[in-house]
Order: sequence, then C-alpha cells, then structure tokens
Amino acid sequence: MKTEIEEIKRSIRDIHDFPIPGIVFKDLGSALKNPRIFNLIANHLTNLYQDKGITKVVGIESRGFIMGSVLAYRLQAGFVLARKPGKLPGEIISESYQKEYGTDTIEIQTGTITPDDVVLIHDDLLATGGTIIAVQRLVKRFQPRKIYTSFIVELEFLHGRELFPEGMETESLIKF
Ligand code: AMP
Repeated sequence: MKTEIEEIKRSIRDIHDFPIPGIVFKDLGSALKNPRIFNLIANHLTNLYQDKGITKVVGIESRGFIMGSVLAYRLQAGFVLARKPGKLPGEIISESYQKEYGTDTIEIQTGTITPDDVVLIHDDLLATGGTIIAVQRLVKRFQPRKIYTSFIVELEFLHGRELFPEGMETESLIKF
C-alpha cells in the first residue's frame, strides 16, 4: 500500500518555471499516461470514500474532471461540474476568490446538488487553496448533508488546508 503510494509519487514529474518563473509545476500528465499509475490513483482514491455514502462528486475545471468523473463512476454517484465563468448554460451560482493577481470566479449550475446529497469535491492538486475554498463555499450554499474534499496531490508547504472551514474532512494521496 505504502509502496504503491510511493510509486505514484515517483511518477509525478517536476517542471521548473512553469507556467511562470519560480513555480515548480507538478506534472500529473507524466503519472496519468501510465495505465498502472492511473489505476492505482483511481483505486486509492475510491477506497478512501467507498463507505461514505457519497451521492455527488464535484470536479473542478479542468484537471479535477479527470479523477472526479472516475470517482463518480466508481462510487456510483452523480457528477457535477465546477467551471470557470461563462462556460455553463442555464441558471448558475458563483463565488469569486482572490488570486495572486486579481480575482477569479467559479460557477455551478443550480439544481445540481440537493440537501439530501453527500458531496465529494475533487481537484487534482491543492496549492494555496484559493480555488477549492471558493468551491467549498459554493457547494455549502446548496446545504448538502456533508461535504468532503479530496486531491491527488497536496503541496503541504503552502499550507492551503489551514484555510479550510473547521471540520472539513480532507484527503490527499500524495504530499510534497
Ligand atoms: P490553488 O488555488 O492555489 O490551490 O491552485 C490550485 C490549482 O492550480 C490546481 O487545480 C492545480 O491544477 C493548479 N496548480 C497550482 N499550483 C500548481 C503546481 N505547483 N503544480 C501543478 N498544478 C498546480
């Protein structure tokens, strides 16, 4: 089990100075292209939530859609898209959040989550936490029974998790 997690970790490539100088980008593409690693990530994430009664998975655009939809399928839950502004048709609700430069907004369609739902929010990677906290706020507005948050990778040195609301159950497979 531990060695499988280490195997996943070793498969994630560092790309220096991407997308801007000074950033070490954790390239999940190098992990996901490998069928065994893709399978290990899917299995380990699924195992964490197998017994939680998850009814909806919220995937965050765009890399959160990859394992988010796998998780929804494996947990027999529905899938909800959290998208950048202007991408979703119909009635939406939105939350804005502070980025390094300026603000950004994330949107979900109304009617996608109900108070009966147990929601798992998924993104590929936790960095500063700006994006995920906005999605947590957004999902909370639907008043579901419970909200969980999951990542493949967490950059612990950025302490993003410390800004999460109290009691938010959060798991990440790989920590740097
Ligand atoms: P944040 O809002 O700072 O937590 O940023 C989260 C989003 O940005 C994630 O969905 C990642 O896809 C992406 N991201 C931020 N920093 C990195 C990094 N060092 N390596 C790979 N992806 C990153």
